[in-house]
Amino acid sequence: MLPNKRAIVTGGTRGIGRAIVKELGAKSCCGVLFSDVAFIYNSCDECADELQKEVDNPATKIFGFKADATSYQQAEATVNEAIEKLGGVDILINNAGITRDNLLLRMTEKDFDDVINANLKSVFNYTKAVLKPMIKQKFGRIVNIASVVGLIGNSGQSNYVASKAGVIGFTKSMARELASRNITVNAVAPGFIQTDMTDKLNEDQKKKLAEMIPLGRLGKPEDVAKVVGFLCSPEANYVTGQVIAVDGGMTM
Ligand code: NAP
Repeated sequence: MLPNKRAIVTGGTRGIGRAIVKELGAKSCCGVLFSDVAFIYNSCDECADELQKEVDNPATKIFGFKADATSYQQAEATVNEAIEKLGGVDILINNAGITRDNLLLRMTEKDFDDVINANLKSVFNYTKAVLKPMIKQKFGRIVNIASVVGLIGNSGQSNYVASKAGVIGFTKSMARELASRNITVNAVAPGFIQTDMTDKLNEDQKKKLAEMIPLGRLGKPEDVAKVVGFLCSPEANYVTGQVIAVDGGMTM
């Protein structure tokens, strides 16, 4: 039996991140591995407690860390603490993200900065923090959660789209920098997924969106988590620098 992989997931308490923590931690991921998981969250302590109870697989250890992913210092300290608890780190999932949507005419500088910091700077912070241990052990799997709008643009989301296009560029550069160290870096680009982030849409908007999606429905967090699990598994050992859309065919 192979030893458990050790994973860090940012934004792990809700939505897509929560499904990823469960995918990596609760089951044998992709029929092959279990992972011990450290998840990072920003504010919701109750969500963290519930998640820890939900992942009740005795074969895995789950740790929650409250930290602001936009802070370089907090990321460094949290990763060091997580590595101590997990005994190392093999997998990093950069998932934490926010939206502050508005047309550019009405967008404030703060809305722009907050989104870039939460969605893009956080990816730099956590990737930098795991780099040395991953390089030293000559193994790493990094998956960044981007968005299809980072590929095609979206009106009213210029801050969010810029951050996600940045994540895609960062992913490809890291894939090139780290390939020789046996560290793969990929991005998953979800379409519209049913989480708190998209709950802001009313039923009519959701219906119209579903009509634009060839598979005829919004995605579930688990739809994204399965692809993330695959990218962390040995089956994806030869995949790096890719952006995999999980969008029901919306952007084909
Ligand atoms: P969500 O339900 O709003 O959950 C966001 C998670 O990120 C929460 O766990 C939150 O923690 C955490 N978080 C936010 N800011 C943080 C910070 N500064 N530091 C640490 N943690 C922070 O979002 P989601 O819909 O699951 O989205 C997850 C990722 O997928 C995001 O990167 C998002 O851009 C991307 N995405 C989502 C969709 C979609 O349709 N839902 C589509 C494309 C891409 P707290 O609860 O503690 O604040």
